[in-house]
This record gives sequence, C-alpha cells and structure tokens, in this order.
Amino acid sequence: MIAIAKNLDKIRDRICLAAKKCGRDPKSIELVAVSKTRTVAEIKAAYDHGQIFFGENYVQELLQKAKSLENLDIEWHFIGHLQRNKVKVVAPFIKHIDSVDSFRLAEEINRRVPKAINCMIEVNIGNESSKSGIPEPEVPDLLTALNSMEKLNIVGLMTIPPFENEPESSRHYFRNLRELMNKLNSANIYRSKLTELSMGMTTDLEVAIEEGSTMVRVGTGIFGDRRVGVVSRIS
Ligand SMILES: *Cc1c(COP(=O)(O)O)cnc(C)c1O
Repeated sequence: MIAIAKNLDKIRDRICLAAKKCGRDPKSIELVAVSKTRTVAEIKAAYDHGQIFFGENYVQELLQKAKSLENLDIEWHFIGHLQRNKVKVVAPFIKHIDSVDSFRLAEEINRRVPKAINCMIEVNIGNESSKSGIPEPEVPDLLTALNSMEKLNIVGLMTIPPFENEPESSRHYFRNLRELMNKLNSANIYRSKLTELSMGMTTDLEVAIEEGSTMVRVGTGIFGDRRVGVVSRIS
C-alpha cells in the first residue's frame, strides 16, 4: 500500500510538471483514479493519500465498492459503457457520468437520477468500430437534444483514443476533441458552456494536458499493472 501512495505522488508530479510546461495551473487538472479490478483496500490506500475522485467501468464492481466505502467522501465517476437498465441502481452512488453515449441513455438518466448530475459525452474520436462513444459528427445533434433534459448537466467531452505505442501519436486525437468542444461552444447549441475535457491516461497524460485536458483518468500508474482475468464484466 506504500507503493500506491508513492505512485500517486509520482502521478501528481507528472501532472504538475506537464501543466507548468505549457503554462497551465496544475489545479485546473483533476485526477480520476481508475479503480476497476482493484480491491477496496487498494482504493482506501489511495483515499488515505488524499485521492477523492475514483472511476469505475462496471456496475457490479462499482456497487460493491461504493457500498463498502460509503462512509468516505469519495466521488465516484462512472466511466464505462452504462446499460440503460442499470442507471436506476447506480444513480444513488455516483456523482458523475463521464460516458454518456446515446440519446436513450441520457433520457434514462434524466428520468432516474434523484437530482441533477454532471455528465460528459463520450466521443469515439478515432471512429473505431470496437470503441464506445458516439461518432464525432453526431455530437452536435445529441447535445442539442440534451438541452431539454434538466437533470443532466453536460460539462464536457470524454474520449478514449485508439491505442498507440507512442504517447505523441495520440496528440491529434486530443487536439480534435478540444477543437470539437470549442466549435460546440462557439455554435452556442448547449444551454451552458462546456468546460471539461476528460482525456489522457497513464501513458499519455502529459500530451493530453498539453492539448487542454482538464481531467486525466489514471489506473495502472497508481495501482500497478492490472492482473489479467480479474476483470469482472458482470454489468
Ligand atoms: C482503464 C481505464 C483507464 C485507465 O487506464 P490506465 O492505462 O490503466 O491508466 C482510463 N479510462 C478508462 C475509460 C478506462 O477504462
């Protein structure tokens, strides 16, 4: 567990350095610790070292962990593909849904959440058939439709770009996401300005920060390598 604290420090240093290098305030970048496949004890170790935001991909895992850690002021981000029939059961436990990827999911969220929730639209920026997220050309129409859903407060865009061996190779995807957000804001199609860009993971967070990321999602950099086969795709 000492390793988790040390790793967290390293990631915070990397965020700080990357921000300073491009003249940004390090505080403008939020760290979401991605805790899929990790134990409650591992999450607690990160929490004890000051980590508040955690991200989970699978409903069943999230429910187990959120319930065991209910007495802590952790803010859970849902970052995976969310099935509509699971919205009701996870809603009481999550503060953020960063992976809204369809009109029908948004409708269900709007119907089920007890109070307004911060959401991001997940964009399939690399246009990969295997990836979740909506294709870039469909974002303006979705965002327009979301204007009428009062329980959803759309704060920005999220993406998982195609896998690249070199962090530098992801730069154009990150840039595209930022430019998309700027275009949406200039066109004034949503009721409030989008301000958040959730992009960048363990290997490429520096490049993402240089391209304007306001939220990096880091798993292995904090918790170490994920053990293969432990992923419970129950949801
Ligand atoms: C697993 C995951 C991450 C973290 O990836 P690492 O490479 O372990 O930092 C970030 N975002 C999403 C959506 C993930 O599923």
